[in-house]
Amino acid sequence: MKRLDGKELAKQRREQLKSQVAKFSQIHGRPPCLAVVLVGEDPASQVYVRNKLKACADVGFRSVEKRLPQDISQKELQTQVGMLNDDRDIDGILVQLPLPQHLQADLVLAQISPLKDADGLDPENLGLLMTGNKRVAPCTPSGVIELLKANGVELQGQHAVVVGRSQIVGKPMAQLLIDEDATVTLCHSHSKPLSHWTQQADIVVVAAGRPQFLGQKDFKKGAVVVDVGIHRMENGKLCGDVNPEGLEDWLGALSPVPGGVGPMTITMLLENTLGLARLHQERNSQ
Ligand code: NAD
Repeated sequence: MKRLDGKELAKQRREQLKSQVAKFSQIHGRPPCLAVVLVGEDPASQVYVRNKLKACADVGFRSVEKRLPQDISQKELQTQVGMLNDDRDIDGILVQLPLPQHLQADLVLAQISPLKDADGLDPENLGLLMTGNKRVAPCTPSGVIELLKANGVELQGQHAVVVGRSQIVGKPMAQLLIDEDATVTLCHSHSKPLSHWTQQADIVVVAAGRPQFLGQKDFKKGAVVVDVGIHRMENGKLCGDVNPEGLEDWLGALSPVPGGVGPMTITMLLENTLGLARLHQERNSQ
């Protein structure tokens, strides 16, 4: 079984990004800039934000961290996002999810200017993706496509099953696989029995958020499996949605957790931001 190593691929892509960022900074007299909005004190979100800011610094981006109180109102949060939209020095904006329960994330995401939507989750950018005019695509599914391609996995004409239909992973994942000419089945919590579909697939992308709930019996021999899930087990270690037991001699390829999809997600965020920064400069010069 091949290991779809996202950590190594992310490292290579970030090296390439460093020289692209240096070139951008030389031409425009400033580096690309990402603003990250963190509401409240959620420990996992704090770690994710810290990792994103570190990744920005590593490739030479400027970043702005906007920490806002847990009890911020919907209106005030949207005002803060609006101020980032108006700030000409900022190319990309990311609002770390989940937000505290009293806040409506969809309204906040819709407030981000589509031209600064580093996560690719704005309705306009999702619409452009659906209509074949991609501007930026959601980071996790883009990272999955890059991971598959870099490992020479054939997508054209293959049957790909996506497990999960969330806005941030499953739905855009299905669209990106369709764009690669795969035949796509999108499964979710009402797809019963799930194994009926996954057992037929050449490629399975699992993003259900259920610790180790799929295993050997759910996949056909030689299948390629990408595990998007990430969970902390009682022993403190991380695991995915796939139970790796018995898969070594069964699958064609599997992405590990950790070290698979996760590092690619952040890399795609950086690539999206650089793309938006270039667009920003182009529009300013018109
Ligand atoms: P979500 O909870 O928003 O969506 C889960 C989807 O899975 C839903 O569409 C649901 O219908 C489906 N589902 C749930 N149980 C199922 C079942 N038993 N059978 C079939 N379908 C089922 O989750 P999400 O935000 O899409 O994230 C999914 C997982 O991916 C989580 O573990 C999350 O932590 C992880 N994730 C990882 C990264 C990364 O960068 N590695 C990024 C985003 C999400």
